[in-house]
Amino acid sequence: MSCNICHKKTYEPISTIFTCESCQRKNVTAEPWCCVRVELGDATGDLPATLFGRHAEKVLACEAKALFNLDIEGQLDLMERWSTEWTITEFIFHVKVAQRRNSLRLDVMGVDDV
Ligand SMILES: [Zn+2]
Repeated sequence: MSCNICHKKTYEPISTIFTCESCQRKNVTAEPWCCVRVELGDATGDLPATLFGRHAEKVLACEAKALFNLDIEGQLDLMERWSTEWTITEFIFHVKVAQRRNSLRLDVMGVDDV
């Protein structure tokens, strides 16, 4: 779950109205938010990256709220679809390099179709 304003993580249950500790706003709503760790690759190699929000939803071809509401059978069907579609789907990723302690991290800032 995340704050519907700043999208920072919260442990509040879905649709809960709360005060966000990250953005300090009152009366925000807890909503599902995608965060997906992936390996991005091209001819030069692979690098780990993180997709957030609408970028993750675009690659997954599914909204966070829909993912949240799937039952186990629906999750398995979706994972099977992803396993076949992802081997043939290409995207252009716009990334930002972030230094975190002793390692570099790639955050995806944009996703375009090829
Ligand atoms: Zn917030």
